[in-house]
Amino acid sequence: MIQSKLKGGETIFTTMSRMAAQLDAINLGQGFPDFDPDQELIRLVNEAMLKGHNQYAPLRGVLSLREAIAEKTKFLYGTNVDPHTEVCITPGATYAIYSALTSILREGDEVIIFEPAYDSYIPNVIVNGAKPVSIPLTYPSFSIDWERVRAAITPRTKMIMINSPHNPSGTLLSDEDMQELTRIVKVHDLFVLSDEVYEPIVFDGRKHNSVLKYPELLQRSFAVFSFGKVYHCTGWKTGYCIAPQHLMEEFSKVHQYNVFCSFAPVQYALADFMQQKEHYLGLGIFYQKRRDQLSLLLEQSGLKPIPSHGSFFQLFDYSALSNFGDLEFAIELTKKAGVSAIPVSPFYLSAPNLKILRFCFAKKESTLDEAGRRLKEYFLKIPND
Ligand code: PMP
Ligand code: GLN
Repeated sequence: MIQSKLKGGETIFTTMSRMAAQLDAINLGQGFPDFDPDQELIRLVNEAMLKGHNQYAPLRGVLSLREAIAEKTKFLYGTNVDPHTEVCITPGATYAIYSALTSILREGDEVIIFEPAYDSYIPNVIVNGAKPVSIPLTYPSFSIDWERVRAAITPRTKMIMINSPHNPSGTLLSDEDMQELTRIVKVHDLFVLSDEVYEPIVFDGRKHNSVLKYPELLQRSFAVFSFGKVYHCTGWKTGYCIAPQHLMEEFSKVHQYNVFCSFAPVQYALADFMQQKEHYLGLGIFYQKRRDQLSLLLEQSGLKPIPSHGSFFQLFDYSALSNFGDLEFAIELTKKAGVSAIPVSPFYLSAPNLKILRFCFAKKESTLDEAGRRLKEYFLKIPND
């Protein structure tokens, strides 16, 4: 009998997506668009294959794509990154997070994680023999209490993981947060893992504060991104990591013995397609419309939106409508209303008793309309049941 290295079974995304498919419910759970990537991007991938780009890419990725990433970094943040030594294309952001942690963590190291946290962080820390130290974000603003961070630091603390725009809450780290983080990591000589997969998806005229904007953070950070989120192609599992040369060397050592390189044709296509800055510059407005549509629809059912300033997600408080726990209520809505969402408790090691669900609005307007209609019908019926 093998003693499992990881507690728990499948992720909540697998559970809820399977249930939604089995029951033919509208899946507003797992974070993926229900529409296609731009047809031109699809054509470019096909073209790359037809042109013969079907063999191994270089270890750190196709150079033209790394150059396009460096150009975008300069354009957005005014920061120079070296495409030869500081960028690596990966099979998705999940993989990049795992590789970054694996490249620096040793037995007994501690990693500070803010909860609710994306589901892979804690298992990734544990599987590397290190210890996750969870700090809850303040509810309902989902902001960081920096005093708690200072109090949690020990001589074993090696890294702080941040995620902005944040999954599941949609909150953003402010410039003051980044200044606090800078002070702490300098004093205690810590690394940062910055998960920025929703980078350009920010709303209401707000700005994304990337670690790439802060020279002192940049020197200590692995910044992780996902093309899947930005180009509506989560199934292509392509992302990248930016880190200073000394960290990227370690990252590449892990990467070379894991997959060695990422899927080649998509890299050629993205290198071309990334020249269209309008795509990522327009994403905030594109998704803000959907966030607003979903909020309007679900408010009609009595669900109370908790402000989301970025990402694919909006949290809703259902405490006025049901006493169910969040997993129970997500299952109930999938079965009885035909709409599935994600409970927030699985994003915690030890969850507080919050009556909130996460809904994904990266969907066609018609999908959101139909989900709103089904939920309204369900909640109208409840008092008579
Ligand atoms: N981090 C966060 C916060 C996410 O929501 C996701 C889900 N897409 C990922 C990382 C993983 O991205 P990818 O699909 O590129 O692995
Ligand atoms: N990032 C997606 C979400 O938060 C899920 C990705 C996955 O299923 N691992 O819903």
